[in-house]
Amino acid sequence: MSNRFDSKEVFKERFKLEVSEMYGRNFEETSSIERYQVLGHMIRDYVGINWRETKNAIKKKETKQLYYFSMEFLMGRLFTNNLMNLGLYDVVKEGLEDLGMDINEMEEMESDAGLGNGGLGRLAACFMDSLASLNLAGHGNCIRYRYGLFKQKIENKRQVELPDCWLKYGNVWEVWKPQHSVEVKFGGSVDLYMDHMGKFHTNHNPDFVVRAVPYDEPIVGYHTKTTNTLRLWDAEIDEASVNSGQLNKYLNDVMAITANVYPDDSTAEGKKLRLKQEYFFVCAGIDQIIRSHLQVYPTLDNLPEKVAIQLNDTHPVLVIPELMRVLMDDYNYEWDDAWRIVTGTVAYTNHTVMAEALEKWPQDTVRSLLPRINMIIEEINRRFQFEVDHKGLLHIWNNVAIIKEGQVHMAHLAIVGSHSVNGVAKLHSQILVDDVMKEFAVLYPERFNNKTNGITHRRWLLYSNPQLTSLLEDTIGDSFKTNPEDLEKLMDYVDDPIIQNRFMEVKHQRKQILADYVKKTLDIDVDVNSIFDCQAKRLHAYKRQLLNIFCVMHLYFRMKSEPNFRIYPRTFFFSAKAAPSYELAKEIIKLINFVAEKVNNDPETNSFLKVVFIPNYSVSVAEILLNAADVSEQISTAGKEASGTGNMKYMMNGALTLGTLDGANVEIVERVGQENAQIFGLHVEDINELKHQNSYNVWDFYNSNYNVRRIVDSLANGTWSSNHDEFRLIYNDLMLRNDEFFVLADFDSYVYAQSQVEQRYRDRGRWARTMLINIAKSGYFSSDRTIKEYADEIWHLTPISFED
Ligand SMILES: *Cc1c(COP(=O)(O)O)cnc(C)c1O
Repeated sequence: MSNRFDSKEVFKERFKLEVSEMYGRNFEETSSIERYQVLGHMIRDYVGINWRETKNAIKKKETKQLYYFSMEFLMGRLFTNNLMNLGLYDVVKEGLEDLGMDINEMEEMESDAGLGNGGLGRLAACFMDSLASLNLAGHGNCIRYRYGLFKQKIENKRQVELPDCWLKYGNVWEVWKPQHSVEVKFGGSVDLYMDHMGKFHTNHNPDFVVRAVPYDEPIVGYHTKTTNTLRLWDAEIDEASVNSGQLNKYLNDVMAITANVYPDDSTAEGKKLRLKQEYFFVCAGIDQIIRSHLQVYPTLDNLPEKVAIQLNDTHPVLVIPELMRVLMDDYNYEWDDAWRIVTGTVAYTNHTVMAEALEKWPQDTVRSLLPRINMIIEEINRRFQFEVDHKGLLHIWNNVAIIKEGQVHMAHLAIVGSHSVNGVAKLHSQILVDDVMKEFAVLYPERFNNKTNGITHRRWLLYSNPQLTSLLEDTIGDSFKTNPEDLEKLMDYVDDPIIQNRFMEVKHQRKQILADYVKKTLDIDVDVNSIFDCQAKRLHAYKRQLLNIFCVMHLYFRMKSEPNFRIYPRTFFFSAKAAPSYELAKEIIKLINFVAEKVNNDPETNSFLKVVFIPNYSVSVAEILLNAADVSEQISTAGKEASGTGNMKYMMNGALTLGTLDGANVEIVERVGQENAQIFGLHVEDINELKHQNSYNVWDFYNSNYNVRRIVDSLANGTWSSNHDEFRLIYNDLMLRNDEFFVLADFDSYVYAQSQVEQRYRDRGRWARTMLINIAKSGYFSSDRTIKEYADEIWHLTPISFED
């Protein structure tokens, strides 16, 4: 038990000793970064015992395990999270204090692990935390990207992308496991031959082979022994495959596989490299699963009883043909038996209904890069067509084909090859069944289900908002920490003015922390007594940051032209990264910053209205931004946001949702009641109707609505920029492409909703009550609830038992 340090004194001794041993200098002479490195390794080593015991218990009890395949894990920092989950935070904090150090400084040393774009990657990270905390054996499988999503800077009001060198000082949590490396083969040709029993075999002669080498990170559960693994695969050269003369090209090709997270989570990237990445981590992950299964069991027949694989969106869908390949080519399974194992093991989560974001690959690309996988996909498609025909449904074939017009439809492959297909909020799952996947829902009604997303209340409440947590403990006890639905106990206090005041005081403290950050990093003064109105998420047309900034422009124009019109002081916070190739999104960022400059510097209005764009939206920024919000902007075009999880983080910290009836907003309102949210705008049905009748004309709104006209005109008349073409792209997208996301159609309704928000805020008691109700009802949105549903209904997991 030598690496345990459960008391402050033991910790201090060990820490000083390890620092000076590691660097061969006196403790006092070492730098913060050196101390951080040692501290991180000490924590990781501390976890080692539980990690080993978890693996042993799983083997011994033959516990079923989940593997969560995701191209993205947006983990953020782990230092505080790990110490808190281990219950060691105070020991370390006080020990460091005795040594003259500040734990906050150590926390700040860690880089965010930004191995993802946004919501989808953050969901995977929240799921890891809940799995371990619920004692379920559930591991992550992903790529060890050397650079995270880009770092965003704003220069000259525009987004600038810089590399995110998150590994600059190494990664204290990971353990390199070169002994577990896997060969991954690309390209070349496949020979088919028949053996003397008449059975077909294949022989793949690849033209490019890389070695996948795992780095494992422990995932520490909350106050439990359970410690799962996040496995990140790095690509290294395969010595035997290097052709002399081709060395440089080979090295580059290997390095490219793990260089970057694709900075786009909404459109299918037509890049071969992306497909290489997908196959790379799928092939490596499957190999590991098979090997560890065969260490415990003599056969793969029982794989579906002992292993569940969840596909986070279609990016890892090659799991299906890859597992077929391994079973048939390496373990001699017949097609039907292999298919039973694959479909019994794999389940798929859909994250989008936007046609342009449904992943498709040219079959030529698949064939040349993955010849054997391509053959298997063709056979899956052939047999599926036979099944559809057999059911007398050939007329729907065009809508369900896996291979169509030379393209492989990954979502179709995912549905056909798995036993469960889930959406991520009730409304979204309904749209899948009624609309986007309706033919599949007829073919396989039993596969479709809903699992409304969640967030880990540990990171997003307990750790990032200690002020609120401690007040909640004082008020309702601490059972909500392990059972978040106990937040409901707060309902007994929502009308108590003393409690209301104390919660308002906590919100004020969080607003001050955000204001200090904004002052320090951007040198902007914000009024903490103003309404903090926040929209922080990826920048995308369907999320409608444009609607928000249009309303800001409108309020500004009104205050300028109507001396008697003044709003309750408000600060609009924006934070958003745009995909580097997404020009319209970048122009919206530019517009926000142009508006901010003008509005913030106008002495006539700037005590009422401020706009702050916080650069580099990331988990660490989210941790100080969201819990300071009074208003949570969730204003996507109805039907477009699958769920959203930002909305849940705000709610749990007491913000009012200003939103459309979209994604999980619907379920938030269902819980808090219409009177404790501010809902506006067109419903999904309205929008479907407008589209169906082809009756939306953006010019009708422009011509009939003075406020709309004033805003649209201001884009091109020098109001915000002397260059009249500065916002041409936005203007054209709205006015010449007929406003695909109904920004102008929802404008009046949004402006009215904003005025209602202001009315509510003026009544402090009522506002506090609403805030408390939002917190009280947020327990449902803990990812613990989500994971329990997946575990019971899809994966059929039972908790790990450490008993002998
Ligand atoms: C929660 C989160 C998201 C998802 O936000 P949505 O509002 O649901 O789109 C994206 N990025 C980060 C860093 C997050 O923490």
